[in-house]
Amino acid sequence: MLLLYYHKAIGYLQAFVHLFYPHICLECGTELVSSHSVLCTHCENNLPYTDLFQIENNRIEKVFWGRCKLSAAGAALFFTKDTLVQTLIFELKYKQNKKAGWFLGNIIGTSIQHVDRFKKIDTLIPIPISRKKERQRGFNQSLIICEGIQAILPTIHIASVLRKPTSNQSQTTKGRLQRNEPIAHVFELMDAVTVKGGHLLLVDDVITTGATLEAACNCLWLGQPHSVSLAAAAYTL
Ligand SMILES: [Zn+2]
Repeated sequence: MLLLYYHKAIGYLQAFVHLFYPHICLECGTELVSSHSVLCTHCENNLPYTDLFQIENNRIEKVFWGRCKLSAAGAALFFTKDTLVQTLIFELKYKQNKKAGWFLGNIIGTSIQHVDRFKKIDTLIPIPISRKKERQRGFNQSLIICEGIQAILPTIHIASVLRKPTSNQSQTTKGRLQRNEPIAHVFELMDAVTVKGGHLLLVDDVITTGATLEAACNCLWLGQPHSVSLAAAAYTL
């Protein structure tokens, strides 16, 4: 009961704060027309779009050649440090700003919706994080990005069929070589029925070494999908 009052009080407080601090652009501070967006139109237009989704054999696909079977791959934005893209990812992962994740998902959805090689996609697969991290953060950021994609492409399903086994050490505590080794054991496929025969799109926030996505892709193939593609919000140069 006490908790309920607490949440109510927080809700009133937020509404009160919004009266004096309306929604503003994360980059330039301009007041936003919609409470759903995080950037003004000007800053959104100036993001470093990669335009890679429509390019076959693009540089992201080449990263995965010989490592896993992908039909198509791309990332919406270039990720560089101390830029707005880093701010968006930071807001999503460390400031519990789901709107930043939905926004990034919207950008992916808009980028792929008219690209032929992504047209058959029927299922979005968010890259899972450990249960511990999910408890700390309150959500899986890749799932939020999936929801943003689905807002643009509403016929596509989201299926959280991959799971990180609890025995896994945190990826960040391991070196790159080690991270590349236990590929088969990084993820578990929880629901093979859902992925069988499907056109899957693996979704992640940032592509760096590609080791996580490679492991996830190989794990998905255990369920005999028709195709696996991947989309990330950003790609590290
Ligand atoms: Zn702005």
